[in-house]
Amino acid sequence: MNKRFSAIRDSLKNTEFFFIGVLAFVILSIAGSLMIYIPSISSDIREHAEREMNDAVISNSSAVGSYFSNKILLLNAASSQFSEIDITDMEKVLETVRGIQENSSFRHVGFTGMDGVTVSSTGSVENTSNRQFVQAGLSGNFNVSPHVTCDFDHKYTDMFTVPVFDASGNIIGALTGDSSEFSLVDYMLLDVGGSFNCFFIFDSVGDVVYNTPGNEVGIGSADNLLSLIDSDVDSKDVEYLLNSLNRRTFKRLEIRGREYMASFIEVFNSEWTFVAIVPSDEAFIAFRNILTLTAILVVIVTLLQLTALVIVTVRIGIVKSDVEKLIGDSEQMFYVDSITGGDTIERFRENYSVVRTNTAANHAIMALDVDRFKAVNDMFGYEGGNDIIRTISGIIERSIGKNDFYARGGGDLFYICAEFGDKSELTDLAERIMSDVDYQITDVKLNLSIGIYIIDDPHLRSRVAADRADMARDSVKNTKSSSCAFFDSSMLERIRREKRIEDIMEDSLALGEFNVYLQPKYSLGEKNEVVGAEALVRWKHDGKLIPPGDFIPLFERNGFVTKLDFYMFEEVCKLQKKYISMGFDPKVISVNMSRLHINRVGFVDELVAICEKYEIDTKYIEIEITESAAYENMESLRDIFREIKSKGFHVSIDDFGTGYSSLNMLKDLPVDVIKIDRSFLTEQADESENASIVIACLVMLATNLNIHTICEGIETRVQADLLTKLGCEMAQGFFFARPMPVPDYEKLTYGLEGK
Ligand code: C2E
Ligand code: MG
Ligand code: MG
Repeated sequence: MNKRFSAIRDSLKNTEFFFIGVLAFVILSIAGSLMIYIPSISSDIREHAEREMNDAVISNSSAVGSYFSNKILLLNAASSQFSEIDITDMEKVLETVRGIQENSSFRHVGFTGMDGVTVSSTGSVENTSNRQFVQAGLSGNFNVSPHVTCDFDHKYTDMFTVPVFDASGNIIGALTGDSSEFSLVDYMLLDVGGSFNCFFIFDSVGDVVYNTPGNEVGIGSADNLLSLIDSDVDSKDVEYLLNSLNRRTFKRLEIRGREYMASFIEVFNSEWTFVAIVPSDEAFIAFRNILTLTAILVVIVTLLQLTALVIVTVRIGIVKSDVEKLIGDSEQMFYVDSITGGDTIERFRENYSVVRTNTAANHAIMALDVDRFKAVNDMFGYEGGNDIIRTISGIIERSIGKNDFYARGGGDLFYICAEFGDKSELTDLAERIMSDVDYQITDVKLNLSIGIYIIDDPHLRSRVAADRADMARDSVKNTKSSSCAFFDSSMLERIRREKRIEDIMEDSLALGEFNVYLQPKYSLGEKNEVVGAEALVRWKHDGKLIPPGDFIPLFERNGFVTKLDFYMFEEVCKLQKKYISMGFDPKVISVNMSRLHINRVGFVDELVAICEKYEIDTKYIEIEITESAAYENMESLRDIFREIKSKGFHVSIDDFGTGYSSLNMLKDLPVDVIKIDRSFLTEQADESENASIVIACLVMLATNLNIHTICEGIETRVQADLLTKLGCEMAQGFFFARPMPVPDYEKLTYGLEGK
C-alpha cells in the first residue's frame, strides 16, 4: 500500500471525523446554551413579572389612596358644617347636604343622624340604619364601601362615610357620599399578566374594608390571608403583622394547591393595607408563552441542525465513497501498467525498497529493452507494438524466480529485480529471456539489450540502481544481436567524462577548438582520383585530439550536435568560397547532419542562407544523413531530402546497410548517393561472398535508380579492387586517405602549398 494513498485515506477519514465532530459540537453547544439560557431567562422573566406586579400594586395603592383621601377628606371637611347648624332642622340639614353635594363630585350626599334617619341631597328622608357604611360612620369610623347599590338609583357605586362631630367632639351623626364618576374598581389599574386577579383593602385592625367583586380566592379576612402566608400567625398579631407587611412586601402563597403572588402596600395616606393577589400561573402567562415559544424554537432549531447533521453525514459518506473510488482508480493507474496489466515502475520502486531493507540475499537490477522499437511500431502500428510489449512482459514473468519482480518502465523498457546466488544465474536469466523472445516473436527479428547492475549498496535508491542498469544496457544498445552487459564503474566514469564535456562544449566551440578534417573520396575504376571529400569534426582540447565517437553521441543526446553541424557546414562553405575565389571549380564536400535536424522547422532555409552568405552555389555541398534517421520518421526524412535536393544540394544516405535498410527506401528517398557502410567489408571470411553479392546487387539497384554509390572504410587494395569489380563508383577509406587537416587536403586536391 502506497504511503501517499493511505495518507490520503487517513486524511479523508480524519476530515470526516473532524467535520462531523465540529458540527456535532456546534449543535450540542447551541442546544446546551439554550438549555442554560431558558432557565436563566425564566428566572429573569419571573423577576420581571414580580417587579411589574409590585409596580402595578404601588400605582394602584396610590390611586386608591388618593381616591380615598380625596373623597374622605372632602366629606370630613364638609362634616364640620353640621356642628354649626341645628341638625334637628331638616330643612337646614337638607340645604347643607345639597350644598356639599353641589360643591363636590358626589352623586348624592346624605346626613344620617344618630337615630339612623338619613336626609339625602335627593330630598328623601329615610331610615338607613341597617346599612353597614352608615353604622360604621355612626360608630365614629371612616368607611369606604365600594360597589354597593345606591338606594336612590340602584346603581353600583362606592360609598364614603365619615363620622360627624359636634364642637365638643361628640358624634352627632354620619355623612355619606357616593361617587358619581367612577367606581373604585375603575380605579384599579392592576392588570398583571392574567385574566384573573383580586385585591383587598384591610383596615388597620385587619378587617376587610374592600375586596374585589367576584373574589374567588375566598379570603375572608386578613387573618385568613396572613395564616395562608404564615401558618403560625396568631390572629392577635394581625395588626402588627399587617403593619410589618404593609410596607411594600411581596409574598408567595398557596391557596388550595394553587400558587399566588401577594403584594402588600399601605394605602396612600391611610392606615389601610392594600393587598393584590394574582395567581402565579396567570401572572406568568406571558412569560410562559415566551418560554413555550423558545422551547418550540429550540426543538425546531435542534431538529433542523440534526437534519443538517444527517444530510452532511450522508453527503460526506457519498463524497467519501466517490473519493475512495477515485483513489482506488488512481491507485490502479499508479500501480497497474496500462499495457501489460503488470506492475508499474512506482510499484517496482516500492517493492525494491521493501526487498532491499528486509532481505539479505543478493539482488540485481536488470534493464531490458528492444533495439529500435520505433521501427517495430512503424511496422506493426501501436497496437501491434503493444502486443509485442505484452508478449515480452509475459516472457519475463515466466522467466523470473519466485522472489523476483519486474515492471515496465515506459515504452519498451522493462526492469527486473532478481535475486541471485551466483552471477551466472543473472546471465542465464537474460539469455533465457532473449531466446524466448526469439522463439515466441517470429514476425520480426528483435534485438534485446539487457543491462545488469548488481546491487552492492543496499542503501542505493532504486532510481540510481535502475540508472546504472540503464548505463550497462546503453553499452550494448544497437549492436547486431541481442546482448547483455554488466554495469562496471568505467560506465560511471563515462558519465562523469560526459559531464565534463558538457561543461566545456560551448566555450570550445566559441574558441574554435572544433576543427574540420577532410577525408577525400576517390573514384574507382581505371583511375583513382579525388572526386570530393567528407568533412569530419575533430576536437582539439588541451593539446589532445578527441575523435567524434567520444562526443557526437553525447551531443546527439543533449542537442548540441545541431549547433556543431552548422558550425561545420559554415566552415566548409568558407573553404569552398576560398577555392572558388582562387579560381578552382571546387570538389563537392559532404557535411554530416544529425537526425535531430529532420524535424526542425527552417533547417534547409538556414543551410541555404549560409550558402548565400558566402555566395557559393549549393551544388558544392553534399548533405549526409545517416540511414538510421529513417527510424525516427520516414515521412519527415523524405520531405527533408526533397527540400534539400530542391535547393540544389547533393544528398547522401550515410552508413547505408547498418540498420533496417529497406530497399524501398531507395525508391522513396530522393538521394544522389548511398554510402555503403564499411561493415559490409568487415564481415567474416565465410560471409564475405554473401556481402559481395549484396554489394553487387545494391550497386546495380542504385545505378538503375540513378543513384551513385560510394563505399566507406576501404582499408586494403583487395577491398578497393573488389569494389571496383562490383561496380561501385567511389570509395573512401584509409587505403586512399585518412581524414586530414584542411591544408593537407588542399595540397592533395588543389596542389596548394601552405595556404
Ligand atoms: P561517418 O559519417 O560514417 O564518417 C566516416 C567515419 O569512418 C569517420 O570516422 C572516418 O574517420 C571513418 N573512416 C574512414 N575511413 C575509414 C577506414 O578505412 N577504416 C576505419 N576504421 N574508419 C574509417 P570519424 O571521423 O571518427 O567519425 C565518426 C562518425 O562521427 C561519422 O561517421 C559521423 O557519423 C560522425 N561525425 C563526424 N563528424 C561529424 C559532424 O560534423 N557532424 C555529425 N553530425 N556527425 C559527425
Ligand atoms: Mg558521414
Ligand atoms: Mg558513414
